[in-house]
Amino acid sequence: MTPILFKENWPYGNQVALSLDIDDIYPGSSLDEEGLDFSGDMDSGNFRYLNELTSKFSELKITLFLIPNCIHREPWPGGKFYFLRPLIKKPQSYPLGTFKIDDERFKIWREWLKEKISSGNFEIALHGLYHHNDSYSNTAGEFLGCSFEECQKRLEAAERILENSNLPFVKGFKPPGWCLTKELLEAIKKKGYIFLIASSNMENKISPSSIYPKLDSNSLVFLTPNCYAHQLKRALEIASHNGLIFIHSHIAKTMNNLNSISLEFVRGVKEIIEKLTKKFWKNIWFASLSQVAKWWLAKEKANLEFNQSDGTLQVINETSYNAFGLTLSLKDSIEKIDSLNPVSPPTINYKLINDKSFFFDLPAKSKITFELKLK
Ligand SMILES: [Zn+2]
Repeated sequence: MTPILFKENWPYGNQVALSLDIDDIYPGSSLDEEGLDFSGDMDSGNFRYLNELTSKFSELKITLFLIPNCIHREPWPGGKFYFLRPLIKKPQSYPLGTFKIDDERFKIWREWLKEKISSGNFEIALHGLYHHNDSYSNTAGEFLGCSFEECQKRLEAAERILENSNLPFVKGFKPPGWCLTKELLEAIKKKGYIFLIASSNMENKISPSSIYPKLDSNSLVFLTPNCYAHQLKRALEIASHNGLIFIHSHIAKTMNNLNSISLEFVRGVKEIIEKLTKKFWKNIWFASLSQVAKWWLAKEKANLEFNQSDGTLQVINETSYNAFGLTLSLKDSIEKIDSLNPVSPPTINYKLINDKSFFFDLPAKSKITFELKLK
């Protein structure tokens, strides 16, 4: 790393990034036994709140965490009385296959979801296979107690169902019930996932590890949901640190999860974006979680070398992801950029933002050389 330049967090000189994710997408609808809409009601159900947001903010990106073969029911009795469950006649899960999304019964739902993805506002990532585990008090902790082989098998089964459903998905994972085990982590790495959401920080003091992506030695990017839609002050605080505002919610309001999308959610997100726009104008990067993860990986790994004597700056991207809009700024408070010329290749897209910063498109597996004269 050159001592005079540093890489800004976000592409094209953006000051802040914003992303949304919604948990527990599967075709359960209000007509099912529990009367809860997990997107089975499509545009006439809870999803209309997301539609309202994407029609107002066309650049908004939302990652949907999908369960390909959900058998999870709302646990009852809940809380500390969970040990009574075996005595209760009510089944604790649905029969296997009840909501397997590649089933003929869900054809219309699949077509509808595919259309959502084609709009460019939504992407799908994985949220387990069954989202259920009978053996633990946290019945959503699907992977608790699973061996590495079993974790791998379930990831493969989940991916296969999505492929059979003809639904494009990104290689991102969020373990159901926030239960990440050593075995599951190994399986996720082995299967080449690019991002993982293993914990959240919605209430505690914000910290660097919760507002910036984190890259581990295996090139897996850890992302942390850090804001509810009603926390405007928190969102602005994250923005003041040039962080990623990562708003998290659920599709359905269940007994255990009161954090779900609603009119208040829509109002909250609108207010956050409007306040950010006032403060940062157009310098907000609306990105999906997979875009954030790929960007962060390519940006973090981009290698800069500045040769002070002849003024050449070499930037190398060895990853297979584009770092388009990579933004570099001068560290020193005295020096300013006098001129900047791309030498090889001579035709790249670049732009001086001011006399301290510039950005340029650094494609995957590429090397770019500039002539950088300082005043
Ligand atoms: Zn869940």
